[in-house]
Amino acid sequence: MNEKKTPMIDSHTHLHDPRFESDRADVVQRAQNAGMTRMITVGTNQHTSKEAIDLAHVEEDIFATVGMHPLHLFSAKNCEPEDQFIEEFDREFYFHLAQDDKVVAIGEVGLDYHHFGEGDPVEVIKEKQREVLKEFINICNVVSKPIVVHCWDGYDELVTILEKNVVEKRGVIHSYIGSWKNAEKFITMGYKIGVNGIVTYGESYDKLLRNIDLQDILIETDCPYLPPRPLPRDQRCEPCDVFYVAKKIADVKGVSIDVVLQKTTENAMALFHM
Ligand SMILES: [Zn+2]
Repeated sequence: MNEKKTPMIDSHTHLHDPRFESDRADVVQRAQNAGMTRMITVGTNQHTSKEAIDLAHVEEDIFATVGMHPLHLFSAKNCEPEDQFIEEFDREFYFHLAQDDKVVAIGEVGLDYHHFGEGDPVEVIKEKQREVLKEFINICNVVSKPIVVHCWDGYDELVTILEKNVVEKRGVIHSYIGSWKNAEKFITMGYKIGVNGIVTYGESYDKLLRNIDLQDILIETDCPYLPPRPLPRDQRCEPCDVFYVAKKIADVKGVSIDVVLQKTTENAMALFHM
């Protein structure tokens, strides 16, 4: 583990999630004992955005984001039952929350073209996702905060949208699972690439990790989801496990874990102004 207690930041958690209800204080303590200096808990709809803010107000080291995950815009047939609730985008609601002092970014928002099922009105849903993403980009610019983008199967379109709709404070393409080629385009625009446990599942992202400069990476767990190896896939993960993501990056790049932790901490502090 992080023996020298080099500062580290988990830039994308869902610590307000009910799966942390029974032992949240212990989880936070374990993270802090492991060197964690900041954790960002990410809202995905009205309810969880509110929860994220509430948690950030009781825990000094926890900061929040508010936003609406694209899957909450429609009831996708391919989703888990728990994900199947729809919400109408309410600009005033999010705009109000976005101004909170402990809200450091707007997100997660974006495009999810992966979860369509047979019979879904694909083009209608895609258009709605694009419209709502642009609304959130507008909120970012009004409150002067960066964006946390979720994207699955829509990177080419995301590049176009972010080129045409500039987020002044930029942001992060979280849980990145795209190509190096697209990553380069986001980096050129000034975005960070959010890397999590997915890169530890095999060698698919080694090329990306080799090519990407440390100054362009944020590390994250997306906990309770996506436990990095060597943790079992079906286990809940938690912020201190972000260490394994840093380790994978260090191994592939042939640098020390300390350097990865230090640099990604600086990147997160600078982007989110914490
Ligand atoms: Zn997430």
